[in-house]
Amino acid sequence: MRLFTNARFCSMEAPDDHYDALLEKGGSILRLYRRSGEIPADLHAERIDLDGAWVYPGFTDTHTHSFDGGLYSLCLDLGGCSSLRQVIEALAGVRPLGGLAFAWNLDVHRIREGRFPNLTELDRAVPDIPLIVKRVDGHSCMVNSAALRAVPWKSGSAPQLLPLTRELSREASAWFQSMVDEEGILSAYDAASRIALKAGLTRVHTMVGDGESDPRHFVLLRDNLERFDVDFVPYPQISNVNRALELGSPRVGGCLLSDGSIGSHTAALNAPYADQPESRGTLYRDQDFWYRFVREAHREGLQACVHAIGEAAVEQIAGVLRRVYDEDPKALHHQIIHCEMVSDRSLELLEGLPAAAPVQPAFDALWGGEGGLYEKHLGKEGRARCNRYASLARAGVLLTGGSDWYITPLDPLGGIRAATRLSNPAERLSPFEAIRLYTVNAAKLTASDDRQGYLREGYECDLSIVSGPGEGEKSAVKGVVKEGKLLFLRGRT
Ligand SMILES: [Zn+2]
Ligand SMILES: [Zn+2]
Repeated sequence: MRLFTNARFCSMEAPDDHYDALLEKGGSILRLYRRSGEIPADLHAERIDLDGAWVYPGFTDTHTHSFDGGLYSLCLDLGGCSSLRQVIEALAGVRPLGGLAFAWNLDVHRIREGRFPNLTELDRAVPDIPLIVKRVDGHSCMVNSAALRAVPWKSGSAPQLLPLTRELSREASAWFQSMVDEEGILSAYDAASRIALKAGLTRVHTMVGDGESDPRHFVLLRDNLERFDVDFVPYPQISNVNRALELGSPRVGGCLLSDGSIGSHTAALNAPYADQPESRGTLYRDQDFWYRFVREAHREGLQACVHAIGEAAVEQIAGVLRRVYDEDPKALHHQIIHCEMVSDRSLELLEGLPAAAPVQPAFDALWGGEGGLYEKHLGKEGRARCNRYASLARAGVLLTGGSDWYITPLDPLGGIRAATRLSNPAERLSPFEAIRLYTVNAAKLTASDDRQGYLREGYECDLSIVSGPGEGEKSAVKGVVKEGKLLFLRGRT
């Protein structure tokens, strides 16, 4: 038994509801004490002093691509290099991952010579195994001769023009990712688990696969969940409901794209882009495709998960959900992932449905506000319809918090802060509601689980320990308890 003391244990039952001490046994919460004075003097338990911290039910990030995030963290980071010599020296010491060498974050403009290393230089540094060096924005890359030989180029022959850009760069990157062996895949998740813990997370939902690829990677993660300190909740990113059933997954889909992104003008809008009047993005699939997908998942009792960003895409998926739930009412939380640009029509369609929206408050912090990316692409009017959290919550949508890591960092505290400070004041959440995105609501989304999200007797003892209130400007992650075990506590000697 462990007794955690000297902290404010926020139950998440009501905004100010809290306890003074928490007693853990066998990974569950055995007792909560309103006042320290209630603790029996003869209690035999290991006492852990939390140094005045604020303690919450373990934070969950409900939308990540953790394999990519973990993999990037293991790659050689060339961001600190300012000359070709430094780049070559760093590359010569690269630690291969699953028989491949990855390097990224090369900022050619910061290199004295102003260019990528050439083929001869790369071959000298890494002669035997395929190497990829990615530019800081990820849109171009350089490879060595071993990679030129190994990649099965669609055109039939190795490209002559280096560095690689656009389609060729994507082709090379995709091949490198697909070639990571099982050990490499698991090391990427190991790294992701470590990064998640440091960010104060105890559970992480992760999208696996790229839409239609074979689910080998999903099976590997599913069969190794026990080895990680954080709980991964894997999503098979496929649209084949039967396959998801065979895999034993209670959900199907993930970032299955109903449209693209605002930054690349591919999010489907109801009006033209402010800065590209000839374009309004495109719906990638017709209504009927999504209806068949969601209806089949619904019938089988699986959560259907779809990526929708632009107003027209969110309306399309909201319309599908309305139809499916009306035909067969069930308390299944189908997910509109991102649910970024929301029209009044979408709010009407979603009103009263058990639909869920895993949202990314960090997007608003990065792109909201005057002169931000939303305003540039969508105009002032369009900007005001982004990230309508308060409206969605009022319509009864289950809002949960996520980072879309690797797009933004794993940072639940940053997400909580951003949700309380949205650029549109009318859509801001209260601190309590914002913290619920990462606790109570996240637990509801993981349907199978009813012992998470609150600090209650009998619930799992997963705790996120913060130096101050979750929404506080200066609050930082102090520690994490997983299944009753203190995994780390900063400042503890
Ligand atoms: Zn997405
Ligand atoms: Zn995503």
